[in-house]
Amino acid sequence: MIWLTDIHIHLSDDEFSKDIPFILECMDKLRIRACCVSVNLKSSEKTLELGQKSNLILPFVGVHPENASSNDLESVVKLIEENSKYISGIGEIGLDKTYVSDLVGFKNQELVFHKMLSIAEKLEKPVSIHSRATLDEILTILPSYSISGILLHWFAGSKKQLKTAMERNYFVSYGPAMVYAKDKQVLLSETNAERILVETDGPVKFSRCFGFKVGQIAFLPSVVFCAAKVFHMSYDDMACQIEQNCKHYLGV
Ligand SMILES: [Zn+2]
Repeated sequence: MIWLTDIHIHLSDDEFSKDIPFILECMDKLRIRACCVSVNLKSSEKTLELGQKSNLILPFVGVHPENASSNDLESVVKLIEENSKYISGIGEIGLDKTYVSDLVGFKNQELVFHKMLSIAEKLEKPVSIHSRATLDEILTILPSYSISGILLHWFAGSKKQLKTAMERNYFVSYGPAMVYAKDKQVLLSETNAERILVETDGPVKFSRCFGFKVGQIAFLPSVVFCAAKVFHMSYDDMACQIEQNCKHYLGV
């Protein structure tokens, strides 16, 4: 049976806390690993603890743009440096203007993002990037860093931005929304098969066929199935391709 990797989920979120033993058991049965991203100091510490519990958890540590104005940056940097060998990547990091009210706030997000990118470069770790409505800014910043695994998670850019990402060998991930959103399927069809990753971004809730349920690991095979249909490939071939991409992204 083929292993799958949920490339972006927040299992350290309180929403999942009481179910963690059950989730880990499910992951083992379904053969799914997960890159667990963090958003601040507290979730970074919790993600590292989850990583100690199970080798199916690949811990990603970082400061999310929503928390750029918190005072967590220095402590998270220290945590990353001290636990570098247990950390699979840096994330969730990025930019998002919806969380700031002025230019000063956005400048601060940029400062935090630069710090996270430079530590990823220094420690040779992949990054998981949040780029809601800020892809142009992010695509301008990224060439200043030498990072081999760059993921634009929940890719929702234009075809032109996708083309730039593909030319630079970045990875892009698609989630449960693709199962019901035709525009996402069109974007996927224009993505190089070698650059596709899949995610659930739980605990984000998904509408339509998912009935507003919290995104969970078990949604992942539907995303792979949808990608296989778009690419006219068998489920197994698509899953194998995505797993290869995942290894490439993680540098393992
Ligand atoms: Zn996320």
